[in-house]
Amino acid sequence: MAASGSGMFIRCEVDEPAASDAAIAKQLASVCPVDIYADDSGRVRIVDSNLDECILCGLCLEVGPAGAVRVLKLYDGGRLLERPAAAGA
Ligand code: SF4
Repeated sequence: MAASGSGMFIRCEVDEPAASDAAIAKQLASVCPVDIYADDSGRVRIVDSNLDECILCGLCLEVGPAGAVRVLKLYDGGRLLERPAAAGA
């Protein structure tokens, strides 16, 4: 089952199979500076109470296959947060 959650301003979604990939769960839990992702026994869990703390750093978008992790800006019509430009690009 995909993982998702919505706050007042931010929604996060993680598709399958990424959401049940233990390596991705671990990476997401470590990369997000405000703990929006938790590693729940090898599954990604969205921590709803932290969603609106998102600082739009884009680090989570670099984890897993392209497009598997999405951050939607609900305050901006649900616009997707873009992946940061690749270093040096
Ligand atoms: S954009 Fe940054 S702060 Fe927001 S969910 Fe992703 S890693 Fe966390």
